[in-house]
Amino acid sequence: MRNTAIQCLFCGAIAAGLWVAVFIAHFLCHQVSELQEVIQEPRIGSLGKYANQQIRPSEKISKQHMINGKSGPNRPEKPKLHPNLDNVTKTTDPEFFHELFKYGFNAFFSRKLGYEREVPDSRSEICRQKRYSLRLPTASVVICFHDEEFNALFRTVSSVIYLSPPHLLEEVILVDDMSEFDDLKEKLDYQLEFFRGKVKLIRNTKREGLIRSRVIGASRASGDILVFLDSHCEVNKVWLEPLLHVIAKDPKIVVCPVIDVIDEMTLEYKTSPVVRGAFGWDLKFKWDHVFSYEMDGPEGPSTPIRSPAMSGGIFAIHRHYFNEIGQYDKGMDLYGGENIELSLRIWMCGGQLFIVPCSRVGHISKTYLAEDKFPIKVAMARNYLRLVNVWLDEYKDNFFFKKPSFYKSMAYGNISERTELRKRLGCKSFQWYLDTVFPELEASEEEKQDNTRKETKLFSLITKGKKVP
Ligand code: UDP
Ligand code: MN
Repeated sequence: MRNTAIQCLFCGAIAAGLWVAVFIAHFLCHQVSELQEVIQEPRIGSLGKYANQQIRPSEKISKQHMINGKSGPNRPEKPKLHPNLDNVTKTTDPEFFHELFKYGFNAFFSRKLGYEREVPDSRSEICRQKRYSLRLPTASVVICFHDEEFNALFRTVSSVIYLSPPHLLEEVILVDDMSEFDDLKEKLDYQLEFFRGKVKLIRNTKREGLIRSRVIGASRASGDILVFLDSHCEVNKVWLEPLLHVIAKDPKIVVCPVIDVIDEMTLEYKTSPVVRGAFGWDLKFKWDHVFSYEMDGPEGPSTPIRSPAMSGGIFAIHRHYFNEIGQYDKGMDLYGGENIELSLRIWMCGGQLFIVPCSRVGHISKTYLAEDKFPIKVAMARNYLRLVNVWLDEYKDNFFFKKPSFYKSMAYGNISERTELRKRLGCKSFQWYLDTVFPELEASEEEKQDNTRKETKLFSLITKGKKVP
């Protein structure tokens, strides 16, 4: 009897063990497939084929180069550049995956890196030798965030404060676009006290989206130049002066730094090659090669490079010029398309857009973000329609050709204010833009039709009132 009971218990234990093993295996498979599904294309864009063109080996920024670079009280020791990945790559911890999808990148490492770190100096040798006037216009750095990982946000702010000359940095303006994460509330207020008034925090009372949040932030700025950054960036050494220097010479020039890549998994800071911003007829932003004549001058790849477009929106613009050319289209929702719209408006209405190779800013692409993408896709479609109908003239159909037919009948709100702005500013035609700024677009070869298929699926889900998986 006792033997039978022991046998039963033994069999039961084995069965339970098997069930637990099956459950864990199922959970891990689910996490991996979820990981693959949520991979999205970030607006700032991956470097794709340009990613492996390292300019030269990176070097660390030495501590004495840090402006006002002392660590504050309660600051953790500056961490190593690349924490050990071993523990993470082998992890089966569900919390790790949960955070990966919540924040869009490796929050575990981000916490390890803490509030500030040293990043490699990714500038070319020529750039390092450049000297800038002490008398440059001042900058207000505007950073909008929605549910950002706390440490990444804090590193963005502290890198700006420590690596910008204090007399040129008027202020950092943070715009909280109705975040829900708890640590972005009182804890953020408390920690920002550390910067003693250099940082202004504005809290939106409803979710405005990036586009309107930037306009809100800009309206509270008092520096000469507005510099817009994402909330998961780390600026590099002498990043600000080259941008201000170009605008000081001509306030109608808008400038972008080179965007270095902060790996979303390892948080390693990687030097990017110098590329220019472009797009196809679907108006999706992409990086493009720079013509050799732009780089081969006596100053090498250090002078500003003409760019047909800016990426997701890390750029500097004279505050008065930003207002003069009509800020952003406030009828656009959330984000998407506003960077192409502003790029066209700058070029077509008398300004110029350049990439400044000597200014470098690192950015984390949120590859794994698992937020509900349905509202973003709807906002993007609407934003694109607004921009196409204001700026593309007789070339509109090239865009519609890339999109499923329902795009033509989608509502996009009233654009009369924007078409009047275009008239008032005396802007040139899209044909002029094609002929003068971006002739490669007209000649661009057919892109794959994948997008059309994806968008058709989206439309069928919209019409059935379903959420996009
Ligand atoms: N953002 C915002 N409100 C929104 C969506 C985004 O303030 O409704 C912020 C976000 O926190 C980030 C910036 O806008 O600082 C750009 O967003 P994201 O990094 O997702 O775009 P990408 O890097 O792909 O351009
Ligand atoms: Mn971003």
